[in-house]
Amino acid sequence: MNPQAPPKLSLPGVKHVVAVASGKGGVGKSTVAANLALALRMAGQKVGLMDADIYGPSVPIMFGLGTVNPQTTPFPLEKYGISLMSMGFLVDPSQAVIWRGPKVAQAVQSFLGQVDWGQLDTLVIDLPPGTGDAQLTLSQSAPLTGAVIVTTPQDVSLIDARKGVKMFQEVRVPVLGVVENMSYFVGDDGKRYDIFRSGGGRRLADEIGVPLLGELPIDPRIAECGDAGEPFVRKYPDAPVSAAYAALAKRV
Ligand code: ADP
Repeated sequence: MNPQAPPKLSLPGVKHVVAVASGKGGVGKSTVAANLALALRMAGQKVGLMDADIYGPSVPIMFGLGTVNPQTTPFPLEKYGISLMSMGFLVDPSQAVIWRGPKVAQAVQSFLGQVDWGQLDTLVIDLPPGTGDAQLTLSQSAPLTGAVIVTTPQDVSLIDARKGVKMFQEVRVPVLGVVENMSYFVGDDGKRYDIFRSGGGRRLADEIGVPLLGELPIDPRIAECGDAGEPFVRKYPDAPVSAAYAALAKRV
């Protein structure tokens, strides 16, 4: 037992706490976290989404929200039926948060312990990329059911993803599986193109002995939706990508 490990917080009203993690930025981790939260909601669950990325929060933009007055606004905020908490509600995302590790760790702990999450079936936590202070603190202090690792098919992303897997293994958080994002692109001709090569997510999953939970295609509308404040699965519920998210929601 690490003597410096933060105490485990208990969230008695929350049945499952699922962390969405990635070894590096830009692989679509926040996109997966947001759309997974919506897919769980659309499957009838009560869902929360906690944005633990203190330096680069993306939940406000993806949900079309901005900063609020913390003196007069009760947290979590609510949008599309999901309870939301993000540093971006407290500090304008264009204003850089310049904090050292311990303060970041403190912030994520208070998001977890001091926000009244109420009764939830699943709380999805969008972890910052990598394996720094915030990730470690959360993995140790949150009552995590498990972690989902998001990667792209390329090797460089997989090397980083392996580090993330190792961190969860060290703090004994089960890795629920791997999601390969930006797996392929289906052209207007209906053909599948493996833009970033393929099979990396499967290799990582096999290597660590966990399921490959999904292979999500590249769709330019995903980026458009993220910027427009309405996650893809809500805007295009009948699209194949949304079916892939619905399947993912059943597996976490
Ligand atoms: P991360 O959280 O890993 O840094 P983001 O979720 O912010 O990554 O995604 C990075 C960018 O890629 C965003 O502009 C997002 O909209 C876009 N994106 C993510 N997944 C896909 C996808 N499957 N198809 C197209 N664009 C995507």
